[in-house]
Amino acid sequence: MNIPWKDAYRRAEELPHAVVESRYVGERPYKRTPHIVFEHIEGGGTCWLCGKGRGPLCKTGHGNKFVCDPCQRDMRQHHEQWAREAGTEPSQFTYVPIIDTLDLEPQ
Ligand SMILES: [Zn+2]
Repeated sequence: MNIPWKDAYRRAEELPHAVVESRYVGERPYKRTPHIVFEHIEGGGTCWLCGKGRGPLCKTGHGNKFVCDPCQRDMRQHHEQWAREAGTEPSQFTYVPIIDTLDLEPQ
């Protein structure tokens, strides 16, 4: 299936459980093993941080993880505070559900 990646994410979002895989198709001798770039579980996956709540897949400093709403808020605050202290702009993507950031990404 060769559909634009944003559509692939949105289609996965509509299913009870779906993963989107990415595979290198260029000419260089990179690994062509597919890897999962997005996963959707209805009701959310078990939160990577608290292990209790459930939430959508989010970008974190440790890769893509399921994060529940309260942990998203906590980590978002942390991230924004850290960015302020470091004098940089907070990332619009960190600890935000990936599906909500699609429109911020270049095609
Ligand atoms: Zn949590």
